[in-house]
Amino acid sequence: MRVLSDNQCEAAAAHGVPHHEEVREGLWAVAVPMPGSFLSYTLSMVMLHADGQVYVIDPGSEGEATVEIFRDFLASHGRSLADIATIVVTHSHPDHLGSAARLRELSGATVVMHAREQEEVEGSQSRLIAQLREQVAAWGMPEAEMRGLLDMMDRADYGEHPDIRADLLVRDGDEIAETGWRVVATPGHTAGHMCLVDDMRKLLFSGDHVLPTVNPGIGLSGSRDNENAVVDFLASLERLEPFDDYEVCPGHGYRFYGLKERRLEQAAHVHKRAHEVETILARDPDLSVWGIAEQLTWSAGWQTLLKSTLLASGLAQTSMYRDAVRAGITSRMPPAPAPVKSH
Ligand SMILES: [Zn+2]
Repeated sequence: MRVLSDNQCEAAAAHGVPHHEEVREGLWAVAVPMPGSFLSYTLSMVMLHADGQVYVIDPGSEGEATVEIFRDFLASHGRSLADIATIVVTHSHPDHLGSAARLRELSGATVVMHAREQEEVEGSQSRLIAQLREQVAAWGMPEAEMRGLLDMMDRADYGEHPDIRADLLVRDGDEIAETGWRVVATPGHTAGHMCLVDDMRKLLFSGDHVLPTVNPGIGLSGSRDNENAVVDFLASLERLEPFDDYEVCPGHGYRFYGLKERRLEQAAHVHKRAHEVETILARDPDLSVWGIAEQLTWSAGWQTLLKSTLLASGLAQTSMYRDAVRAGITSRMPPAPAPVKSH
């Protein structure tokens, strides 16, 4: 991968917040802080169009601080919040969609979202947690651990997901009027995640589907019986192949060239996990989700995970991988790609 912004790269490494920077004429990456998060900021893309309108991708977390960032940024370019015509969100997580409703109130902008993602928003966070609680019972956890986890989930503050109805629902291949941005549906991180491509400028706005510094979480929204986020995520990585020579503008981290290399790295990470689960299941096909998770390698260690609020998400991921492996995903996977050398 070739880093295209030292400003963003240094901020990412230091868990700081980069300066706003112009990516192409009139197109800016505006950094919106994400206090308390490992990723420390969201990169919102802001197009100051010659026609006077302002177009935004992923306006970042909710709160007056974010509104101030946009107000100040736009004022310094002779624009105002009222000029925001369109707000496109790659997915419904609070660090991307959070301030969309408030900015719409202040500007009358059109909020654009993938149709599948809108259904997730309406599902709301509390339904997701209720769903997760139901799943916990099927994971085969020892009684004491299960009670501990449910207690932990009761105490945890997951934050409310923004509840918003988009003005315009889009699907794969749709163009966003006046912007030159086209929708590429990339389910996996969430069920209705989308990337946007700007063919004229050869840019890919990748949201949280492709990130330079971390492997995106998978299946971080509800799912239906016919959906498996792991399978979808891999297919969505392949779908980006036509844009391998585009500059990637991710939702967090820094701008870079080398989409192919990063796609393959992220896919390799998924393959490795799937093969690990497959090996465990080959020894004991009826093993519970809990039994599998105990044997998997966890970056922070299993004992640490046991005491963490991330345990539920770790087990949910394990369950998703188990179902994907049982459905034969590893036999359909191409052999894990060899790491590509940086150049
Ligand atoms: Zn994010």
